[in-house]
Amino acid sequence: MTAALQRVCVLGATGSVGMNTLDVISRHPGRFEVFALTAHSRVDELFAQCVKWRPRFAVLPDEATAAELRTRLKKEGVRTEVLSGAQALCDMASHPEVDSVMAAIVGAAGLAPCLAAARAGKRLLLANKEALVVGGALFMRAVHEGGASLLPIDSEHSAIFQCLPEDRTGWPSRIDHILLTSSGGPFRRRDPATMASITPDEACAHPNFAMGRKISVDSATMMNKALEVIEARWLFELLPEQIKVVIHPQQIVHSMVVCRDNSVLAQLGTPDMRVPIAYGLSFPERIESGASQLDFATLSALTFEAPDFQRYPGLALAWETLRSPEGSTTVLNAANETAVAAFLAGTIRFDQIHSVIAQALDAIDLRASGSDSLDALLEIDHRARRQAAQFVKGLAP
Ligand code: NAD
Ligand code: MG
Repeated sequence: MTAALQRVCVLGATGSVGMNTLDVISRHPGRFEVFALTAHSRVDELFAQCVKWRPRFAVLPDEATAAELRTRLKKEGVRTEVLSGAQALCDMASHPEVDSVMAAIVGAAGLAPCLAAARAGKRLLLANKEALVVGGALFMRAVHEGGASLLPIDSEHSAIFQCLPEDRTGWPSRIDHILLTSSGGPFRRRDPATMASITPDEACAHPNFAMGRKISVDSATMMNKALEVIEARWLFELLPEQIKVVIHPQQIVHSMVVCRDNSVLAQLGTPDMRVPIAYGLSFPERIESGASQLDFATLSALTFEAPDFQRYPGLALAWETLRSPEGSTTVLNAANETAVAAFLAGTIRFDQIHSVIAQALDAIDLRASGSDSLDALLEIDHRARRQAAQFVKGLAP
């Protein structure tokens, strides 16, 4: 039986996950149609992708760059329609002809198009974990009300998803807890006294994955794992205490489910994002991903250790914010995005990222804030960014 053609919209097509998605798609001619591609600043890459994939639509943030791309594509004889602006992202994510949306935008900017895809009942492949951290309750409501299928792309969450029974009825009662694995990032063994001198390039050199710069810094601080704990809470409807983290530097075990009877289910494979992407694209089938096979005969030891909360002070904030008023995770995400951007720009030191986040969480009063609409969440997000920017200013040399 041949699968029906799936029309795919790739949000964040020029990023690491976006490019891996197109790589998987390229292995299955006739199975997927690239319907829309979006990018933020890398116009040359988007141009090359449009020439190769001939999507119906391409989206850029502002009209000037969109006009430039339009002219270049016209010269090349490519008939892709180029749109601009944030609303165009939502229009593409909810377009009636789109079947699947790969949400691979980085940061809170991805929330609105994710909500649009969820409300339109799409098959939603979620890499953009920040969307769930900013507005988990609203997001999950949109998924349920819109009848969307939510497929996790983050490798840990895909692993948990793959370990769960296909019949989900009553599954939370079968689970004791889940264990999210983490490589520990590039500074697992670094002398804590030297953390202040870490450069952006050092922080972006992840041991096992080539990823975007923001998530690379998050992996180095382990804020990435904090965001993933929050992501798991919403994806799998778990209590904060049912989510644990274990360091596993080899990144072969992608995460585990500990059942009521203490049987442990794990998903293993070489660390390659194309595996969860292929699974998201083909679920419940399995298709070729391009990843190499694990060779158990040559695999060296798989090791596990508890995370060091002193070394990674941001990690504990996941459970703290999940137990606080709802907008707290929105503040956590906004302050982290602001602090990471400042670190990447050379304005603050690596070890100051955490202090910006902690100060923002202390400073923002959520008592008068709602969190049940996109506007309410964005108001909290903007307030937290302004506050975090003030703290960054105070730290700048
Ligand atoms: P990246 O920086 O490589 O790519 C981000 C993409 O988003 C780019 O196409 C960029 O043009 C677009 N973008 C950035 N800002 C935007 C904005 N304001 N509006 C619209 N588009 C914007 O990032 P990445 O590593 O591909 O990560 C993407 C998402 O996937 C992140 O949320 C990340 O946490 C998650 N994720 C990534 C990996 C990985 O291996 N890279 C693994 C798991 C989860
Ligand atoms: Mg992950």
